[in-house]
Amino acid sequence: MPTNIEWTDQSDNIIRAKVSGWWCQKISEGCKNCYSEKLNQNSFFGGNKQPYSGQPPELVLDTEAIRKWGFQRKPKKHFVSSMTDVFGEWVPRFWQHEMLDGMFVAPNQIFQILTKRPEIMLLSMDEWLSFHGLDKLPLNIWSGTSIENRRTLEECSKFLAQIPADIRFWSVEPLLEDLGDITHYLNDVQLVIVGGESGPNSRPCHIEWINSIVQQCQSAKTPVFVKQLGANAQLEGQPFKTRNKKGGDIEEFPQELQVREFPVLVRE
Ligand code: SF4
Repeated sequence: MPTNIEWTDQSDNIIRAKVSGWWCQKISEGCKNCYSEKLNQNSFFGGNKQPYSGQPPELVLDTEAIRKWGFQRKPKKHFVSSMTDVFGEWVPRFWQHEMLDGMFVAPNQIFQILTKRPEIMLLSMDEWLSFHGLDKLPLNIWSGTSIENRRTLEECSKFLAQIPADIRFWSVEPLLEDLGDITHYLNDVQLVIVGGESGPNSRPCHIEWINSIVQQCQSAKTPVFVKQLGANAQLEGQPFKTRNKKGGDIEEFPQELQVREFPVLVRE
């Protein structure tokens, strides 16, 4: 499905609710204004109106979408499951492995997997790697975790760092506080995506916080991608207004934040 997410080409929602819509379980401060739950509340967008809490509805894995990855000629970046967390506790392990199998046989496609549960991703990927006799993920599978604040920086980054992959990435969105000194964490990450919160009731994101991340990434030579300033951007304690409602137009960013880099893919 085409997407307006700046760091990918398309989103592939391979796990859906059987009747309609999607499901996920809120887990962290970053989930508070979950865009996926909002879409799911709206039957116009195909949602089933179930909240992202309680018990999951019956879910299905779209094996046909996975199979098609291997037949795609044009190289693309795929954000896998923007509407849920494929490493949620409720997702069967063999679904995760079927997904990885599909990625393995589509080496000309890049798959960006993002989770708020990197401890489960680590276990699941380790099992998949040992089943295939591999010691590292294929180059086209990028493993990412969400970082929102200092707590998730501390807790999530340590699991992500253990994943044997060429490309591990952070999605620092929504950025909810100043992360402070991230220098030593950057040794274990090959891409940092950063952005403020969008949508109604967005929490403030200070441009100084984004700037600090960008500067530290640049000093460490870690590629950094500024996705958006957010709908409630602040600069020097004052609202920083943008025409783009999520502050996602790079031309409206302060000059020093106009940076959208990706890692170079080379395996030695
Ligand atoms: S993990 Fe992502 S999709 Fe799931 S509830 Fe949180 S923000 Fe929403």
